[in-house]
Amino acid sequence: MSNSFLPYGRQSIDQADIDAVTDVLRGDWLTTGPAVREFEQDFEAATGAPHARACSNGTTALHLALAASGLGRGDVAIVPAITFMATANAARYCGAEVVFADVDAQTGLMTAATLQDAIDRAGGRVQAVLPVHLAGQVCDMPAIEPLARAAGAVVVEDSCHAIGTTTPWGEVGNCAHADAATFSFHPVKTIAAGEGGLVTTARADTARQIEILRSHGIERDPGRHERQEDEPWWHEMQALGWNFRLSDIQAALARSQLRRLAAFKARRQALAAAYDGALDGLAPVVQPIARVPGNDACLHLYAARIDFAAAGLTRSQVMSGLREHGIGTQVHYIPVSDQPYYRARYGQIDLPGARHYYERTLSLPLYQGMSDDDPVRVVEALKMVMAL
Ligand SMILES: *Cc1c(COP(=O)(O)O)cnc(C)c1O
Repeated sequence: MSNSFLPYGRQSIDQADIDAVTDVLRGDWLTTGPAVREFEQDFEAATGAPHARACSNGTTALHLALAASGLGRGDVAIVPAITFMATANAARYCGAEVVFADVDAQTGLMTAATLQDAIDRAGGRVQAVLPVHLAGQVCDMPAIEPLARAAGAVVVEDSCHAIGTTTPWGEVGNCAHADAATFSFHPVKTIAAGEGGLVTTARADTARQIEILRSHGIERDPGRHERQEDEPWWHEMQALGWNFRLSDIQAALARSQLRRLAAFKARRQALAAAYDGALDGLAPVVQPIARVPGNDACLHLYAARIDFAAAGLTRSQVMSGLREHGIGTQVHYIPVSDQPYYRARYGQIDLPGARHYYERTLSLPLYQGMSDDDPVRVVEALKMVMAL
């Protein structure tokens, strides 16, 4: 057993990754160039998505997907309360208001029932629904999509945790039940680009719109310009866009990491199974992450469920105790609706599933570079800290 510090997540970089980046550094392009398009094409092949468009991070992926779908001022977006704040913030960047949906108390996922409740609270008409595939497990999209459509909404799956997960309707990101899906390549996520993001979409018009908006709103196709003069310098900004581009340096790393996704998934599944085994018998105080049936999940987080109150301990005590054993943990997530910005805007809202989930969740270390023994080491430390 190793005694080195185990963070809750960390990237895995091998020689092939380093070579891919240094190849770009020796070439002609540093910012968006051929490596970005090659990464997008590989991503399309890996997920079965008709179109993939890369961008600067997972937050700008959400922002671009919503902006390209036409979300705007006065519109309403439904976001589950248990997610990273960027899911909700992206709707606000577009000027839309957020209605928070509750989540299943065990999995932390938005369900058809919690979505319908949020649609009803929004008055029946909604312009965007953002299911979040928390920890790498996927929401029940065949049940969620028709409810969202009936309310008039586009569906954007926040898939930042879920690259590599296979569902009965195919790979995450294939947009079988959504207009778009978004990904992040932040180093704590399953594949790392330093910073990076991507949108997949089934719609050619959305893909085009994202290309334009990620680079200042400039229309690159001369055939689509308003001004048709023979002026080689002419370029046209037809919408207000941003600089949300991914660089070729980052794309080369992301592409190399994508080639390792199957190995990463196998590793994460083996580690998750080791956690399940080590936690066996600790219920009801400590339980493994709740599994979603039908998912062949590439877990981003091993979110254990712990009844801290039943053990007579606070979560802070358990986290500091584990830290003394060299084990890093994290809480995913504080309900976004409880953040001061959103409380000030929408008031205090009571979402019992989110509260239950939040009070019990603790993400244990899970990343490719952990050894086979590490889950047992973590659980042994947890037992000591909690006197189980
Ligand atoms: C990480 C994450 C994001 C944002 O991605 P960044 O690349 O950090 O901007 C959005 N949503 C979820 C669920 C995430 O985990």
